[in-house]
Amino acid sequence: MEENKVALVTGASRGIGRACALKLAENGYDVCVNYNSNSQKAEEVVAEIEKMGRKAIAVQADTSDLKAVQNMFREVTKTFRRIDVLVNNAGVVDDAYLLMINEDSLSKSLDINIKGYFHCAQAAALKMMKTGGKIVNISSVSSVLAVEGQGVYSATKGAVNSMTATLAKELAPRNITVNAVAPGFIETEMINAIPEDKREGYLKAVPSGRFGTAEEVAGVVAALCSDAFGYMTGQVLVLDGGLSL
Ligand code: NAP
Repeated sequence: MEENKVALVTGASRGIGRACALKLAENGYDVCVNYNSNSQKAEEVVAEIEKMGRKAIAVQADTSDLKAVQNMFREVTKTFRRIDVLVNNAGVVDDAYLLMINEDSLSKSLDINIKGYFHCAQAAALKMMKTGGKIVNISSVSSVLAVEGQGVYSATKGAVNSMTATLAKELAPRNITVNAVAPGFIETEMINAIPEDKREGYLKAVPSGRFGTAEEVAGVVAALCSDAFGYMTGQVLVLDGGLSL
């Protein structure tokens, strides 16, 4: 019997990660739903995937912790025996103007948004070396657009774009594609945390007149994991309702 393909989505208990996990399950993947602190939400995503007739497990791992990431990949291999897709999504934002940047917050952002992506890409590539695979990194339009107060966040997402190109070149001979999706404002808890007046200002700047949905991001991620995009690698797709134009 042919095995289902397997996807691991980091930060899949909520928001964009959750939507990616559900979309990939809809497209026939068994899914590892990674989370950091919210086990209940992660189990809800697992239950939704199981309702679609796919297998799913929730695995707690702080992606900034290399050992935790390696244990998570061991668990995925033990359960599913293969891994075809990694969606590097788990990320944090903690806006501050330059003079207000706090050392702990700076370290946390660099650890999760950059080191975490490398930890997972490395562990996934190790498993995909013989089989090929797809890695999709969730970047942000802030990587190509200067937003005041987002110096740290922008820098981490700029790093995601750079690593996407380099890893794509390194892994292309192994039939592993590496691409990134750079969303603009997407309606998730991350955006809901922005004060109302600031949110309204952001909304006015979006030519399409609305924030995007997590499902719209997931649609692009799932497309990048399909055979239709088998020859595309190292690219960053901006998905922002025209914000950066
Ligand atoms: P969100 O609603 O805040 O959800 C964040 C997710 O990441 C949660 O599942 C959380 O797990 C997980 N997470 C956080 N730190 C983690 C860690 N150290 N290890 C493992 N998981 C961790 O965020 P979102 O809006 O969906 O954003 C997802 C990604 O899209 C991020 O990389 C973000 O930078 C990017 N993005 C978002 C927007 C936007 O407008 N929302 C725009 C551009 C880019 P727990 O639930 O367990 O805490």
